[in-house]
Amino acid sequence: RCGMIAIVGRPNVGKSTLMNALVGQKISITSRKAQTTRHRITGIRTEAGAQFIFIDTPGFQTQHATALNRSLNRAVTSTLSSVDVVLFVVEAGRFGPDDEKVLKLLPANAVVFLIANKIDRVGDKGDLLPFVDEVSQVREFNEIIPMSAKRPEDIQHLLTTLMPHL
Ligand code: GDP
Ligand code: MG
Repeated sequence: RCGMIAIVGRPNVGKSTLMNALVGQKISITSRKAQTTRHRITGIRTEAGAQFIFIDTPGFQTQHATALNRSLNRAVTSTLSSVDVVLFVVEAGRFGPDDEKVLKLLPANAVVFLIANKIDRVGDKGDLLPFVDEVSQVREFNEIIPMSAKRPEDIQHLLTTLMPHL
């Protein structure tokens, strides 16, 4: 199996931390230059029987709804519609206007996982139920994964969950 995965979300939710943990230090082949006209490959992780290609997309412009920004956002949305899985990252328990703007720009037909990151900061896990309900009202998710990008076992679980979608 081989597939492409994009990581999206507003600033500071932990996208870079997650990307680095997913790609890993020893087993990654990273490249800064564009590999294709559409995708910037950030890292490749090879596991027994599966290859995960993590790609970088330019961020959505959510601050000003200018014609240029709308056009840039359409280009990002179009790129995201050609990957196997989109990881939509939020901070567990927090779903603000900036998160919602990004979520609404994801292509309708994409396979999207809700990554509720920084779960280590949530004391009472019961608090997450209303949060998951709220986010799920904006769109349906193929998987909902509460996790910490800093916990290796959570990274392994995410890779296992990605596998059947590649
Ligand atoms: P990005 O802007 O979405 O790329 O976010 P970063 O990866 O730069 O992370 C933003 C901050 O959140 C950094 O200080 C990270 O160390 C921290 N962070 C990322 N993941 C976790 C997590 O699972 N738990 C905690 N407690 N902090 C995290
Ligand atoms: Mg970052």
